[in-house]
Amino acid sequence: MYWDKAHECMEREQLRELQSRRLVETVRRVYHNVPYYRQRMQEMGLVPEDINGVEDLHKLPFTTKQDLRDNYPYGTFAVPLSEIVRIHASSGTTGKPTVVGYTRKDIITWSELMARTLVCGGTTKDSVIQIAYGYGLFTGGLGVHYGAERIGASVIPISGGNTKRQIMIMKDFGTTVLACTPSYALHIAETMEEMGIKREELKLQYGIFGAEPWSEGMRREIESKLQISAIDIYGLSEVIGPGVASECQYKCGLHIFEDHFIPEIVDPETGEVLPEGEEGELVITTITKEGLPLIRYRTRDISALNYEPCKCGRTHVRMKKVLGRTDDMIIVRGVNVFPSQIESILMEIGQTEPHYLLVVDRINNLDVLEIWVEVSNKLFSDEVRKLEELNRRITNEIQSALGLSVKVKLVEPKTIERSESKARRVIDRRKL
Ligand SMILES: [Zn+2]
Repeated sequence: MYWDKAHECMEREQLRELQSRRLVETVRRVYHNVPYYRQRMQEMGLVPEDINGVEDLHKLPFTTKQDLRDNYPYGTFAVPLSEIVRIHASSGTTGKPTVVGYTRKDIITWSELMARTLVCGGTTKDSVIQIAYGYGLFTGGLGVHYGAERIGASVIPISGGNTKRQIMIMKDFGTTVLACTPSYALHIAETMEEMGIKREELKLQYGIFGAEPWSEGMRREIESKLQISAIDIYGLSEVIGPGVASECQYKCGLHIFEDHFIPEIVDPETGEVLPEGEEGELVITTITKEGLPLIRYRTRDISALNYEPCKCGRTHVRMKKVLGRTDDMIIVRGVNVFPSQIESILMEIGQTEPHYLLVVDRINNLDVLEIWVEVSNKLFSDEVRKLEELNRRITNEIQSALGLSVKVKLVEPKTIERSESKARRVIDRRKL
């Protein structure tokens, strides 16, 4: 039921002492090892000695994705590259990704946290776990992989895609735990129906789903179609990857692993810390990471914190399931997509009007991203071949930048609705 009971069920008072000790240590380390943080603290007139515990956290500066981008690629690392053993990345608001680095100890920490997560969701050493999250720069695949091996489960590192083969393997190899994005889990369920494979032919028991927002309605659908228990996990590559928080079997919020991360909820506009229970932007400080420690990282995810004891016995705070963001980022099949990314690609190619729209939909339970781009009247009256060529070029450039297949639709001028204030760049038709 627990992976690390001593930490997961620690008395809150003891936990706070541990957090304080680790925070003080982290602040000292970033001040001395990361010029970016030293400068930020100096600008605020802060020295490491001003931070004596969790109660001083609010004095520290925030860190944003933009700050990481400004220090691309390695500027915010707190150790020399020779101590980094793994590099991952996530897509940012323009072409350049956000780069994260792990020391050997970070990989051990991450594996431990993922082991906790997987045990929360029902995984044991007897489980056969099929990891259908993408492997690669994305933290999903390898993150789950190391945690599952740590537990001693039998790992099938299949990665995403090729759904019929996934199902064949799930059936033949006797998979008991499925780890992937929730939308992909539904797609698998539907493909099974098409293939005429009955649920009884599978040994599936649990699902570990994350990397995109999903509603309670979607959970019910997955649980009834696949007849499994589906749990929500939370993480983001900047903070560590998956393994920041996980639901327990009661599915009443996600326990944040507070011996490694200190959460806060702030007003997204003013940055003011909000009281328990109030909704706002989730901010996370890492207190055990070596490679890329982050002070008060603005996740842009909207959540709320609940410190009431949980029936499962874990003492760690629960965060509300994330369903919204403070920026216009959308998550499509686990990939972060910002309208500004698309915009900069279109600008570079030229030949189109500055009007575009991202339309996300869920078709047959698979997220589909369609991009509408206006072209000039002249181009539209030209030969079809030219339009096709341009369409292919835009599609290729966007796909290679995002690592995600998209559909591009070139449309006539004035097709996309104009707005008098902020342009509307995204239509999300998924029912989350
Ligand atoms: Zn619980």
